[in-house]
Amino acid sequence: MTIEQYLSQIDQGVILLTPPRQRFLQWRRSANIVIIDGSSGVTVIDSGGTSLGGLLTTTMKRLYGNKDSQVYCQHTHGHIDHIAGSSRIVKDLGGSIYASRDAVPYVLEQTPINMNRERPHMVVSFRELFSAPAWFVNGVIRLSMGKGRQLSDIHLLEDDPDPGETGFRPIPLPGHHIGHTGFFNDESGVLVAGDLIDPRHKMKPVLTSPSSKWSEMKNALETVVALQPKTIIPGHGDPIVGRAEVSSSVQRAVKTLDDSMDYVTEFIDSRPACLHDLSQSMIGMGIGPGTVFRNMFIHSILAELLRECRVSSHDEGRNKTVFTGS
Ligand SMILES: [Zn+2]
Repeated sequence: MTIEQYLSQIDQGVILLTPPRQRFLQWRRSANIVIIDGSSGVTVIDSGGTSLGGLLTTTMKRLYGNKDSQVYCQHTHGHIDHIAGSSRIVKDLGGSIYASRDAVPYVLEQTPINMNRERPHMVVSFRELFSAPAWFVNGVIRLSMGKGRQLSDIHLLEDDPDPGETGFRPIPLPGHHIGHTGFFNDESGVLVAGDLIDPRHKMKPVLTSPSSKWSEMKNALETVVALQPKTIIPGHGDPIVGRAEVSSSVQRAVKTLDDSMDYVTEFIDSRPACLHDLSQSMIGMGIGPGTVFRNMFIHSILAELLRECRVSSHDEGRNKTVFTGS
């Protein structure tokens, strides 16, 4: 194995580490990692999943071993496939860890999924959303994603937005998960976007958490339109390169967001429906892959419609929540 096969240069001093293709079901077990050589140290954006093992710190030592560089690790959000490598960055490289205030509890904890934190955002039962009982889902996620080592110390991006002086500034891009943040370099036009849109799945907006927020995702995409990036490095999949390509990709994501919202609204206006009914009829709308991710996307729409009182819901028992137009 050579480390070089996982590395590609995106811009001057900006390297993308694409993790080996280890998957579980449809889930890439490690997110992309971006390594940036700054004026006062090396900054790593996201630290990958448990499946990465020591690849990140070995790479860092290979690239910067002879320099006595300070290492900073900034996180886009607190999902385990993006943060599990942080404890090694602290231990092996003496690095400091950064996250936005809202993402801090998740990054510190390093658990694959914390249902106590996700549940208050859910508008259907666990079983209905995941098509399986909680104990089963938790077990499968823990087995497939592993668990990171809990961190003891973390810094706030809000206090120190660019400790390594890379020229990349944090841009709040919530929607996918609480506190989700992108990093943008105004000069080069490179946006490290985290889980915003997914090039592997037709640029789908990544609404894949029980707590994902449709309206925040909409705002985040508008923020990106205004930034006019030249390159987007997504959390998973290949970079999107060139202004025209970036613009059409973001437009495509916005269209998926709007079309699916319109579809759900019209469906529920015409007849009462449960998540399962909607999910079945929305296969092929590019909001997968698979039932659970599709459910999660539709769930974020239903939660938005409930918040805006555009639908009402009642629990019919047997894990069936019925939504009615109001
Ligand atoms: Zn994520």
